[in-house]
Amino acid sequence: MLTLDFHPTGRHFLQIPGPSPVPDRILRAMSLPTIDHRGPEFGALGLKVLADIKRIFQTRHPVAIYPASGTGAWEAALANVMSPGDHVLMYETGHFATLWNKMATRLGLKTEFLSYSGQDEHLPLAAGWRRGVQAHQIEERLKADTQHSIKAVCVVHNETSTGVTSNIAAVRKAIDAAKHPALLLVDTISGLASADYRHDEWGVDVTVSGSQKGLMLPPGISFNALSPKAIEASKSARLPKSFWAWDEIIEMNKAGYWPYTPNTNLLYGLSEACEMLLEQGLETVFARHQRWAEGVRSAVRAWGLEIQCADPAVYSPVLTGVLMPKDVDADAVRKLIYERFDCSLGAGLGKLKGRMFRIGHLGDCNDLTLMAALSGCEMGLKLAGVKLAGSGVQAAMDYFAGHPAIVPMQKAA
Ligand code: PLP
Repeated sequence: MLTLDFHPTGRHFLQIPGPSPVPDRILRAMSLPTIDHRGPEFGALGLKVLADIKRIFQTRHPVAIYPASGTGAWEAALANVMSPGDHVLMYETGHFATLWNKMATRLGLKTEFLSYSGQDEHLPLAAGWRRGVQAHQIEERLKADTQHSIKAVCVVHNETSTGVTSNIAAVRKAIDAAKHPALLLVDTISGLASADYRHDEWGVDVTVSGSQKGLMLPPGISFNALSPKAIEASKSARLPKSFWAWDEIIEMNKAGYWPYTPNTNLLYGLSEACEMLLEQGLETVFARHQRWAEGVRSAVRAWGLEIQCADPAVYSPVLTGVLMPKDVDADAVRKLIYERFDCSLGAGLGKLKGRMFRIGHLGDCNDLTLMAALSGCEMGLKLAGVKLAGSGVQAAMDYFAGHPAIVPMQKAA
């Protein structure tokens, strides 16, 4: 039998930006017996999760749930609204935006990849990987497209490879200012249920998300939240689609079922996750992540290291990228922290490989979880010979102690 317990004592610190640690309450919910996915009990479960998940996306419109990872939901979004050769405008914010762009090309779309036009002295080859989507560039490009050949604008809300959260309301405004009919497709795979996200209010046509980040579930479920305009577009879109097709899913979902076998136990978990998030209130959930993020950033500043995101207006509440000095291999530091202190950190991806590591502050997490992870980082950085300006652990302790959580742990008697 495969044994997965490599951690002889205590718990492993899973501080990557997803999959995130799963709360016990969700693990217990998922351990219930698997039921008949065409039986009456299942219909009730299906209707409940479909209603709850709309509240998490802040939408009144249908949300398609797939038994797939986020990459599947990316493909679903494109396959449902695009036709072969359609022109899509995408924006390079990091590794995940790059992968979505590559997928669109492989699906036979004509992709145009806008990127940040400014400079960055520390990362000259990845200046745009330190900033959010520059909405004015999208507006200018769409204004120039007088024939309306661009059919969709695709952006990543929370770029997990960098720790940058783009302003989606500004992208919507840019499309409207250009008076352009393009659809707006947004990836919030790592933003949903941690960073503020409003599908309807921000006029998003298709929102793509996944289970293994802010929803605190294991990987295996992903989503497409839709707009009426996207549903209308799907009726004439001609990219081949079958498993991903919204029409059959929407039809079957009316009674709480799916056209194929859904992942029942993950849906139990989803039901529990939505309850936990809605009990707390989304505003509280968002504020909690902002507070954790600031605590972690105060540690990075005290170490004298650079935060990957160079624009404080778009710091991610979900994760923080920590840029290493030029002569330090970030992967060697991560390896050391993993082996010595049983703590997993996110690697630098794509252009950032070996240059930075990522600390996730999402999922089943609290102040002391983060303090432990930061201790692991500080010890590991010192052991790796990285010169630190001061103690990040002390700075984070001061921040957390000085900024009480909005919801106290225990009510006073
Ligand atoms: N988009 C973003 C922003 C992500 O963070 C990820 C995964 O981490 C993906 C897309 C791909 O999702 P998955 O790995 O679940 O297929």
